[in-house]
Amino acid sequence: MDHASQEPSLLIALEVGLAATFRRRIRDRLNSHGVEAMLVEGQGRNYLEVHGDVEPLRTLALDSWKGIEKAMFLGTAHRHVGRKAHDGNHGGTQAVQVGDVTVGGDRLTLIAGPCAVEEEERTLRLAASVASSGARLFRGGAFKPRTSPYAFQGLGEKGLQILDRARKETGLGIVTEILDPRDVEKVSEVADLLQVGSRNMHNYSLLKELGQTRTPILLKRGFSSTSEEFLLAAEYILSGGNPHVILCERGIRCAAASRQVVLDLGIVPELKKKTHLPVVVDPSHGSAEAYRVPALARAAVAAGADGLLLEVHDQPEEALSDGRQALSPEEFKQLVPVLNGLHDSLRSVDSRSGGAVASTRGMEEV
Ligand code: PEP
Ligand code: MN
Repeated sequence: MDHASQEPSLLIALEVGLAATFRRRIRDRLNSHGVEAMLVEGQGRNYLEVHGDVEPLRTLALDSWKGIEKAMFLGTAHRHVGRKAHDGNHGGTQAVQVGDVTVGGDRLTLIAGPCAVEEEERTLRLAASVASSGARLFRGGAFKPRTSPYAFQGLGEKGLQILDRARKETGLGIVTEILDPRDVEKVSEVADLLQVGSRNMHNYSLLKELGQTRTPILLKRGFSSTSEEFLLAAEYILSGGNPHVILCERGIRCAAASRQVVLDLGIVPELKKKTHLPVVVDPSHGSAEAYRVPALARAAVAAGADGLLLEVHDQPEEALSDGRQALSPEEFKQLVPVLNGLHDSLRSVDSRSGGAVASTRGMEEV
């Protein structure tokens, strides 16, 4: 095959001054793995361009081979999440359908509800309330990942039954967390959107299992994870065969920040640049204080979020988890038109400016 006009999949910088016999030896050793390595002369340094399926070479620890200074895999890690991987969709978001709700389409998607499913009556009341205020999806954890094993762990299967009733009574799609790969089938029977929590973003067995389903996934960013780790977690699900993934920024740990959390809104345009997946922001966990939530929710919409995840509780002081960051149903109701109005006006400004406001600069480079 003629590779002269193609970009290599792997570029290897050899050590300065490496003798020709060693250069050829490295080349031949690579070729014995079924790829095509070519020696390229640089100024004072030599390189190897490697073509073909280089993925199996990742396990060879090339950086520690004698004579190799650095091995760079070029653009193969984001095979599914990468914007280029998505034919005909440059610059846009590929919407994810959650029941009859389109996340990443023209409308802002508001997901609201309590942190955890609590008593049935309260949960149904909250679902009805957020539905009438304009939420499109209802959230509530039946299985809760708590820092302490002695804290409320969620109602489990009873919680799933309550969520099922909430859907029947309000018509809202259900968003609930999946903690255990063994529960995927059971939780998917109730969930329209399966939430992978921040603590589980690195749970690769769970991510692989979710790659096998076709239920949409709301993947929350690990609170100490980089954007690259976040995208690769999504890659696990997509490469398994499930393309229906929505990313959720939920704040990252920072010792100096108030309540030790910073909502990283800069990741929204970054993700929009790098991937076609819709991006949702959770200003509740991203602020940990109810009074900060409306301001951060507005900022998230302004930053380009496709939707928001908001915790709502009617008696926050009694909530079994995360009461301090919960909006009251009334506060949520007042916030909804502000967020929708902001979203729509930014959209119309953006379409008039041909995308110059929500800049798409650089998207083509990724
Ligand atoms: C939640 O959404 O209630 C939750 C546990 O969030 P996170 O995983 O982001 O902490
Ligand atoms: Mn919570």
